[in-house]
Amino acid sequence: MPALSPAKAPPQQSPLEHSAPSRADILRGEYSTWRANNDLLSYDLDIRVNPENKYISGKNTIRFKMLKDDTRIQLDLFANLKVDKILLGSTELKYERELGTVFVDFPATLKKNSVQSIEFYYSGSPQETGRFGGISFRKDPAGRPWVTTACEGIGASIWWPNKDQQRDEVENMRLRVAVPNSLIDVSNGRLEGKTDLGDGYTRYDWAIHYPINNYCVSLNIGSYEHFSDRLGDLTMDFYCLPENREKAGRQYAQAKPMMEAFQKYFGEYPFKQDGYKLIEVPYSGMEHQSAVTYGNRFANGYLERDWTGVGVSLKFDFIIIHESAHEWFGNSITASDVSDQWIHEGWATYAEGVYVEALFGRADALKYINGYKTKVKNREPIITAHGVNQSPPQDQYFKGALFLNTLRSVIDNDARWWKLLRDYCSRFKYSNIMTEDVVKFFNDRTGLNLTPIFDQYLRQAALPALELRFQESEGAVSYRWKAEIKEFAMPVQVGRRTDWRLIQPTTEWKTLKTGVKKEDFEVATDLYYIDVIRN
Ligand SMILES: [Zn+2]
Repeated sequence: MPALSPAKAPPQQSPLEHSAPSRADILRGEYSTWRANNDLLSYDLDIRVNPENKYISGKNTIRFKMLKDDTRIQLDLFANLKVDKILLGSTELKYERELGTVFVDFPATLKKNSVQSIEFYYSGSPQETGRFGGISFRKDPAGRPWVTTACEGIGASIWWPNKDQQRDEVENMRLRVAVPNSLIDVSNGRLEGKTDLGDGYTRYDWAIHYPINNYCVSLNIGSYEHFSDRLGDLTMDFYCLPENREKAGRQYAQAKPMMEAFQKYFGEYPFKQDGYKLIEVPYSGMEHQSAVTYGNRFANGYLERDWTGVGVSLKFDFIIIHESAHEWFGNSITASDVSDQWIHEGWATYAEGVYVEALFGRADALKYINGYKTKVKNREPIITAHGVNQSPPQDQYFKGALFLNTLRSVIDNDARWWKLLRDYCSRFKYSNIMTEDVVKFFNDRTGLNLTPIFDQYLRQAALPALELRFQESEGAVSYRWKAEIKEFAMPVQVGRRTDWRLIQPTTEWKTLKTGVKKEDFEVATDLYYIDVIRN
C-alpha cells in the first residue's frame, strides 16, 4: 500500500504507533495451532454482489492439506457477516466464532497428508472501515455504483471467509463474481469468461494461476471502460471510468516503461499468465496482484504533490510505480508475518528509486531516495513483534528504502548489486519469507557477515552514528561506529567528495591519516544513511 499521503501524514511528534495488542489482533496475527496444522491449496470464491443493498452472498470452497492429524482448523470472517453453513461433502460442520475468527470442527480426525475441501457459505453487509475502506459500496461521480476492496491490514475476512494470515497462501484461486448487468467486475488473474445469469446479473469468472495473499484478492465493480496494450507477450489491460478515458490513456502510458525497468532490474514480471492490469478506484491505490488499483488523480507525484520534496517526484506517477513494484516485492515475495512487512514496503519504496535511476539517471535517484530522510522518525524499530496483527511504523517504507540504498554502497559494485537483486527475486519467487531469510541470502551470496548491519537498521530504532575525532595537528582523524549492535561494522566513504576514501570502522576507535581539514572533511551520507558526530 502507499505510505500515508502528505495530507494525512501525522505530526512529527505523534505518540509511538504501537499500543498493546488486542485479542482480535492476536487471533488475526498469530500463526496458531489450528492454522499451522494445514496447508492451503486453493480457494474458489463464488459470490454475488448487490451494490444497491450493499450485500454479498455466496461461498468459498477451501481446499487444504492436513499437516498433522487434527479435528479443528482456524478460518476468519468478520463477526458482522453471517456464516450460513459450512459443508464437508454433504456433512454440515460445527463451528465456533470468536470475534473475527471461525474455528471449524470436524466430526472425525482429518488425517495428516489428506486433502480436504470444505464449502463455506456466508452472507451479509460488510462495513466500510479503515484508510482504504476495506470494502466500499460507493457511487462514481456520474452516480453509477462503484464497489471496490482494499483490505490490507484490516483483513480480507472483512468481505470473504478465508485463512486470514500471511504465512500460507493458496497455490491458485478462482474468483466468480456476479454483478448487475450494467456493471463489470475486474478482479485478479485472467478473465476466463462471463455468463449472463438471466436474472439481471452477469457472472465474471477470473482464474488466478499463482499463489496469492489474501489481501490482494480484489473486487473492482463499476462501469469501466477497457483498453489494452502489450509488452512482448505480456498483456497489459487498463480500466477507467468512461469520462476519464483520455486522461487514463495518457497517464497509464507510464506502466510500460515501468514494466521494462522493473523487468530489467528485478527479472520477469512474476504473473505473466495472469497479465498486468491497472484499474481506476476511488482511493489512492493498492498493489492487488496482477490487478493494481489506481486513484492518483491521473497526475504525477502522489495526490498531485511532490512526494519527496526534491523535485523528482513530479516526473512520474507515484502510485503506478510504487504499487506495481509490489508485484515483485509483496506479491511474488511475501512477508510471512506483518512484523516483517518492510519486505514489501521498504523494497517497493527502494524500487521507486530504481525506476528513477532507470529513467532519469543515478543523480536523480540519489536525490529522490535521500528526499525520504525527512519522513524517517527513527523512534521505533522497523521490525515489530511477531504474531500480532499490527502494521509496523511508517519507517518501514522510507528507512527501509534508505537502508537498501546503504546496502548497495556496502556491496560497492553496481553489477554485483543488480545481480543480487535479480537473484533475490528469483530465489524467493512466490515465497513467504522472514527477514532472517533475506539476511541469510545476502550473507551467503556476498560471503560477508551483514547480520549486524541488518540488525542495526531493522531491529533498532536509532541510526548508526559515525563518530569522528579530529587531531588536525597530527593530520589525523579517529573514527568509530556508535551503534546498539556491538559487532556493527560497515565500510563508509569519507574525505573529499571528488576523491572518497573507503574506511572500515567498527565500534572500536581507529585512526586515519588525512590531509583534509575538519571543515572540509565530508562523509558520503547520500550513499550511507547514517548520523555523523564530529568532535
Ligand atoms: Zn506499498
